[in-house]
Amino acid sequence: MNDRLLSLAAHLRARHGRRVQKIPLDTNAQCPNRDGSVGRGGCAFCSPRAAATGLGRLPLAAQWDHWRQRLIAKYGPRTGFLAYLQDHTATHLPLSRLTVLLHEAALLPGCMGLCVSTRPDTLDAERIRLVSSLPLAELWLDMGLQSAHDATLADINRGHDASCFARACAAASDAGLAVCAHVILGLPGETADHWLATVDFLNALPVAGIKFHNLFVSRGSSLEARWRADAFAPPGREAYVDGLARCLARLRPDIVIHRLHADPAPGELAAPAWAADRAGLRHLIELTLETRNVRQGADAPAFPRHPEQP
Ligand code: SF4
Repeated sequence: MNDRLLSLAAHLRARHGRRVQKIPLDTNAQCPNRDGSVGRGGCAFCSPRAAATGLGRLPLAAQWDHWRQRLIAKYGPRTGFLAYLQDHTATHLPLSRLTVLLHEAALLPGCMGLCVSTRPDTLDAERIRLVSSLPLAELWLDMGLQSAHDATLADINRGHDASCFARACAAASDAGLAVCAHVILGLPGETADHWLATVDFLNALPVAGIKFHNLFVSRGSSLEARWRADAFAPPGREAYVDGLARCLARLRPDIVIHRLHADPAPGELAAPAWAADRAGLRHLIELTLETRNVRQGADAPAFPRHPEQP
């Protein structure tokens, strides 16, 4: 599959000459779309756990050591590491706390870079300056968009619109940060044409990476109630893979693909059952790309390039 897509693993290996793995770290940050800063109730698809590993009671260094030892045992001592401040919205931490945490993370043994979870409305100039000032080879901001359609964003209680994402993305990129956009395929009311339009929207922005997620119903999310009331159903596996393949062909070829599907945590998945079978999904994606001879960017229309893009 690597000759068809620009994967994060291949991108990092080409830049650093070795395997590089992300290590998720819990910061105990809160979510501005739950605590009232932006909104209440959170995004409709999000479970209250919000990507936390559950090790947040430990200091960053102990969390790092926990995962790093396991990954070194699996991949060998040459493996490089990126610290991923993943839970909730790391940039929602008070600036003083965020400053301490980021500098602490940058000094973790073997840390080559950072990935910081954020929202486009929780990223002011000071936070952009702070992250971009860190002396690390890789500086990524993981920024949720989910959909480029404002009606969908309103429906899922996202709390910002697509233009907010575009502004934050440009500001971060201008400061030298790599933005990884998070996208969900299968949100209520959307078809594959909406998904393609979201890809087109991102193609025209200075986005450096993308994560594709199949929509699944997570336990405790507000989407779960809608699903249980039969008001909505997530897409089937074949529909997801078909739409994903079309999106990949449409995606700008220099955008690094961080993910091709969601990865529900144990106990998190309410539906659909196929979302738990990661190996089967991965196999179907590979088979589909192969049989259709899909290559990233093969169908990408002309788009205006940002001055920062290579
Ligand atoms: S997806 Fe992010 S912003 Fe939305 S509710 Fe979850 S943690 Fe908050």
